[in-house]
Amino acid sequence: MAEPTGFARTWRSRWQDWRDWRSWRARLLRKWRSSLQFRTVTITVVLSGIAIVMVGVYVSVSVGNDLFQSRLGQVELDSNRATSAAQGILDSSDAADRVQVQSLLASARSAISAASSSRLVAVFRVPGQDPSTAAPQDFSTFGDSTEVISPELRTAVQGAPGTQFWQSVALATDDDGQVAGIVVGSQITVPVAGRYELYIGYNLGEAETTLQFVQRTLGVAGLLLIVLIGAVTWIVVRFVVTPIRVAAETSQRLASGDLGVRLPVKGDDVITTLARSFNGMADSLQSQIKELADLSEVQQRFVSDVSHELRTPLTTIRLAGDMLYDQRSGFPPATGRTAELLHAQVERFELLLADLLEISKYDAGSVELEAEPTNLVHLAADAVEGLRSLAESKGTRLNLVAPGGHLDAEVDPRRIRRIMHNLIGNAIEHGEGKPVIVSVDSNETAVALSVRDYGLGMSQVDVNHVFDRFWRADPSRKRTIGGTGLGLSISLEDATVHRGWLQVWSSPGKGSCFRLTLPRTARGEIASSPSPLPPEDAGSDGTLPRLTVGEVGRAGIKGAQHGEGAVHD
Ligand code: ADP
Repeated sequence: MAEPTGFARTWRSRWQDWRDWRSWRARLLRKWRSSLQFRTVTITVVLSGIAIVMVGVYVSVSVGNDLFQSRLGQVELDSNRATSAAQGILDSSDAADRVQVQSLLASARSAISAASSSRLVAVFRVPGQDPSTAAPQDFSTFGDSTEVISPELRTAVQGAPGTQFWQSVALATDDDGQVAGIVVGSQITVPVAGRYELYIGYNLGEAETTLQFVQRTLGVAGLLLIVLIGAVTWIVVRFVVTPIRVAAETSQRLASGDLGVRLPVKGDDVITTLARSFNGMADSLQSQIKELADLSEVQQRFVSDVSHELRTPLTTIRLAGDMLYDQRSGFPPATGRTAELLHAQVERFELLLADLLEISKYDAGSVELEAEPTNLVHLAADAVEGLRSLAESKGTRLNLVAPGGHLDAEVDPRRIRRIMHNLIGNAIEHGEGKPVIVSVDSNETAVALSVRDYGLGMSQVDVNHVFDRFWRADPSRKRTIGGTGLGLSISLEDATVHRGWLQVWSSPGKGSCFRLTLPRTARGEIASSPSPLPPEDAGSDGTLPRLTVGEVGRAGIKGAQHGEGAVHD
């Protein structure tokens, strides 16, 4: 494989850097959001860092100013003394020719060097005077730094004899560097030659070194202080945050049902008060939940016991009722009608009792699945056959559609038959004589049965309650079978115990579609349902409504909804 070119390599490494930076940024952001300790330490370090930098800058500036001012005072005194000494020598001389003036100026220069702490001296003849043959030449010991004597300084010195001027400059050092300095300028009068500008340069290197030392010390001290503040904050916050974190974790465990967890109670501070009240709250919560659980157990037992107890007298009533019902033709019409009513109500009573017993078994958690490989198409065909006479009495056409494939599944046939019977029975009851389509389909993970009717349908509000116990959309609706309001809640329990889904789509006036989806194997998971919900013919005008079925699971409302239909699982 060809080696990447330099250009490609650069881009790749830049991309890598960018990704690293992004993942770092994301990690930091996550830490910032999740850790109170990290947040507190960062904020403290940043704020104290800003404060320390501000104090450091202030100290450094004022020390620098102070150093400069005191050095300037020294320089002014020094140069004043040197200028006076030189002028004294010049004034006391009677030199008359160029040679004498030249040597006079040389001795004045030595006097300046002797009187001042500087070796940088420059003397220039003030321009605009009569040319004199006796005037000695300008000279400067500033060397490469002569240009630091700025034209402005020179103009000021030339224009004001007897006044001293100074200017901050940068002087060249021997090693080609630069050092801060001050140039002081004034005028001197040389006999015969006239007025001369005298400049003395002072090196502030020492003051600068002192300032740099102070700044370095301040920097190191500031950095140490920030690290120290960070460490102290980290330790202090850890002390405070650890109990809070323990409290948060404990309350999380409590919320997820671990009612026995408690916070450790140590000492007598505010955290201990929090721990004590938290533990008190957990105690009362635990005892109340226990009370409720006991109560609910008593209720369940009561329902189950009553249902059991009622069975024997009900059987006797049933036998007596059946006898009366069989002989009703011999009774006067009113008595015959009563016998018919008695028979129907006893039948309903029996159904209700059976449903109650079933529900109480679910509540007691004593339901055992008797799963075996079962062909769902055969089950559905049996259920359809069983309800054919009811359908005919309503004028309903029952259709079974099974598009083939492997429709065997490991299920408890008794429970699945019960679900099918309930769904198909409901579809006939509420289908208003219109056809009912029962379809069975399968995919790799699941088998599904859907029951579609084109009857009354339900509103979204009704759909939300359809699996509630004893709930009926319109209790006054005429019923032919059952009608206890427990059918769908038992069906949902039956589906759930198979780890399956029972869902509904319904729209007023357009009918309903109940879909039962079961995993193919007892331990399998459903990836998706083989049957569509809402049904493909959900739109009355042949168009499919825009409806997405949401994530579906066990009980609860998780289906999506739209203006025309509603799904519930
Ligand atoms: P019931 O014994 O009353 O049928 P269910 O739990 O089976 O009890 O049904 C509860 C209620 O849901 C019914 O009373 C009815 O109002 C409504 N329902 C069930 N299936 C349908 C359907 N296919 N179309 C319209 N409404 C329905």
